[in-house]
Amino acid sequence: MSYKDISAEWRVEDSLAALRFFLGRFKKYTVAFSQQAEDVLLLDLVKQIDPNPDVFSIDTGKLFKEAAEYNRSIEEFYGIKINVIRPDEGEVERMVAEHGEQLYYESAELRKHCCHVRKVNPLQKYLKGFPLWLTGLRKQQSPTRTDLETIEYDEATGVYKLSPLLGWTTSQMFDYIEAKKIPLNPLYEQGYPSIGCACCTRPVQPGEDIRRGRWWWEDPTQKECGLHVKHK
Ligand code: SF4
Repeated sequence: MSYKDISAEWRVEDSLAALRFFLGRFKKYTVAFSQQAEDVLLLDLVKQIDPNPDVFSIDTGKLFKEAAEYNRSIEEFYGIKINVIRPDEGEVERMVAEHGEQLYYESAELRKHCCHVRKVNPLQKYLKGFPLWLTGLRKQQSPTRTDLETIEYDEATGVYKLSPLLGWTTSQMFDYIEAKKIPLNPLYEQGYPSIGCACCTRPVQPGEDIRRGRWWWEDPTQKECGLHVKHK
């Protein structure tokens, strides 16, 4: 395989070393899949070590219509099953009854409440079966991610989080994906460089910050859904 940039090749070796070390130690783990380029890169690397990883995806009930079909195309490409988890219906109904369907536009507090109900709670429930989960987080994605460590322990959940892609740049990531001809979410071609719920994500202009389209009405230093907030 040839990369445009040799530094992508070095990143592969670096990430595979971290995966071999931690997956060897933990044995049981799960991989987060949220239809982004980072997730297919991570999955591709994990598959080189473990042919049958546990993979999960959160269906918040607010995803783009392309999400389910893209999940299916990745399942087919890698011969895996993606476990789709969902928020508690009663909890969502109570939240919407109290604050309205579009509470996320009302305030940062309500937006975070929605993320908690639709993402964080189902995630924490699912992680109860695992000592370790894997994410495709990269430091370059956001100012909120620059101080992340490759392995972190969350005392609130008692679960370790492994992020073996922290040092990858955006161009290295797409270089790898292109070289391996991995199917990308079609939303990238429509100008979405970061993909979340449809109502909270919009396309960005070429050259704009890649997280600009996520919760675009909020302060960039506050843009996290709660899945990756450090509990200190
Ligand atoms: S991204 Fe928006 S719709 Fe999705 S869970 Fe968060 S606030 Fe709710």
